[in-house]
Amino acid sequence: MEGAHLVDVDVHEDALEDGEAEQEDGQQHRLPRKSADEGEDDQEERGRRKDESEHPVGLDRGAAENVEADKEELHDDAEEEEDRQPVEEHSRLRHAGILPPMAVVTQREFGLFIDGETVEPASGEVRELTEPATGAPLAKAAMAGEADVDRAVEAARAALEGPWGKTPPNERSRLLHALADAIVANRKELTELETRNVGKAVSSVKGEVAVSAENFRWYASAIASIAGRTTPIGGSILAYTLKEPVGVAAQIVPWNYPIMMAAWKLAPALAAGCTVVLKPDPATPLTVLRVAELAAEVGIPAGVVNIVPGDGPTTGSYLVQHPGVDKVAFTGSTATGSEIMRLCAEPVKRLSLELGGKSPNLVFADANLADAVPSSVYAIYYAAGQSCDARSRVLVERPLYDEFVNSFSETAAEMKVGDPLDAETQMGSLISQAHRDKVHGLVETGRKEGAEVITGGEPTDGDGAFYPPTVLAGVENRMAVAQEEIFGPVVTVIPFEDEAEAVRIANDVKYGLTATVWTSDPGRGHRLARQIKSGVIGINLPNTAFPGLPFGGYKQSGFGREGSLETIEMYLETKTVFVSTGGKPVNPWGL
Ligand code: NAD
Repeated sequence: MEGAHLVDVDVHEDALEDGEAEQEDGQQHRLPRKSADEGEDDQEERGRRKDESEHPVGLDRGAAENVEADKEELHDDAEEEEDRQPVEEHSRLRHAGILPPMAVVTQREFGLFIDGETVEPASGEVRELTEPATGAPLAKAAMAGEADVDRAVEAARAALEGPWGKTPPNERSRLLHALADAIVANRKELTELETRNVGKAVSSVKGEVAVSAENFRWYASAIASIAGRTTPIGGSILAYTLKEPVGVAAQIVPWNYPIMMAAWKLAPALAAGCTVVLKPDPATPLTVLRVAELAAEVGIPAGVVNIVPGDGPTTGSYLVQHPGVDKVAFTGSTATGSEIMRLCAEPVKRLSLELGGKSPNLVFADANLADAVPSSVYAIYYAAGQSCDARSRVLVERPLYDEFVNSFSETAAEMKVGDPLDAETQMGSLISQAHRDKVHGLVETGRKEGAEVITGGEPTDGDGAFYPPTVLAGVENRMAVAQEEIFGPVVTVIPFEDEAEAVRIANDVKYGLTATVWTSDPGRGHRLARQIKSGVIGINLPNTAFPGLPFGGYKQSGFGREGSLETIEMYLETKTVFVSTGGKPVNPWGL
């Protein structure tokens, strides 16, 4: 999945300028429930943001050569930039007055998005969201209950049977392109909102926002692939197939890539002609709510995209079981996916599951270490290891083991960890203190099992949910740290004797999402691509996703594929039509 880190998307900035200024105004009067004072703040904010629009956020992932430009893009004021705290001092970051003003309106109250507009929740429940990197308040977000889900499904059904059902493919394509344009035009706000909400490094999030836009664009074009076929079957019979949208899709996404996971889900569903009720994680609903607002602005009819943040076991489970929902698409943990599969069994609901991973990264003695070491560091620590495709099990050929562990650990320890909004940061905070406790608990389990902590291994002090890049050596594949998805910046390094053992260990886990192989022997690369059981394999390349290429899992990493033509198929039913074209009745029994 995740993918942005998965790809580098270079978009020419000058091609992205148009429309940003126009969008500035549009964003402000959509804020729900404002007081008079807040309105004045908005005017100031609007003025400031107009200035900032002269320094657009770049869309390529934060490669080293872009660092200087990135700094200018998000923080125009050089003095304020200096005020940002150095990495070691991130525990003192508390936004109140310390950090520079941001592009996004903070303290905003976000409603639900149902039937083309922002609405208050029937339950009246509104939660305070905080920034994981600082513990400071970020925004308030409404939570949907059962009555809200009913309303959203009803709106989705009405849109399916009404305007959206009548919208021809070329018009759907135009609207998806328009939504991609709107995301690009609002990339600065979306990037900062996501960065502050999730705590991930802005250099990563910029790529993820870019990939989200690209994803809508790719599906806007892929609509052209939706077609039935005619099949000659003899006699005077014309036989052909129709492709029809599966109906109302319930989509549930996790907190680790909120905008990108939503884009991965929304775009193929809309391309296929479905309508959607999407439930983001209750902690990270902000960017997807903004995307829904943008969808309405560009003309996607009311009811086509509905967003209902809420808790999984209550709101999520109710949505999955709703009789008005025809298909469920879920991304999240294997445990939750298994529960959702159970809920879908009795009503025989269409289902696709993108689940967890414990992906291997195989390093052979003939590998080019100048590539393999930094890329392997990236492959686990991107998004602080909170990626389904994190290559969290590094398998190293025995003669290279000690050298590799040392070099990898030194590189990991040099990473820039800290303030997510600093353009130079490579790893931000984890999603929450609670999640950090879980990650650390698993590291402690590893210690007890006999693993040696080479670097990291202790939570960082302070209000932010920071955890350092951690390397566990001396690990055996049977240990919990080698089998369980830690979902944090923790890697296990395991030795192997030969190719056969490398493949055996790589496959000796319940997951099968991604894998990477480092070798200078092309034959071995292709051989292992066939032998390793996972949905995606990289040979001498850490990336795992790109718009248009299937992403998904073997084994308990789920079923179905995202990001590709295969995904559109998951939102389509195929109907076979037989037509008699003969001159006389067929009358099979001669009655
Ligand atoms: P999670 O399973 O706890 O939650 C995911 C989503 O499901 C959230 O929106 C949550 O509210 C909802 N949910 C929870 N219980 C539910 C229930 N009973 N019914 C309906 N909805 C419910 O997962 P998480 O911790 O938020 O996300 C991390 C997991 O997601 C990891 O396992 C990771 O590997 C996986 N993931 C997979 C992919 C992929 O493409 N394969 C991508 C990203 C994340």
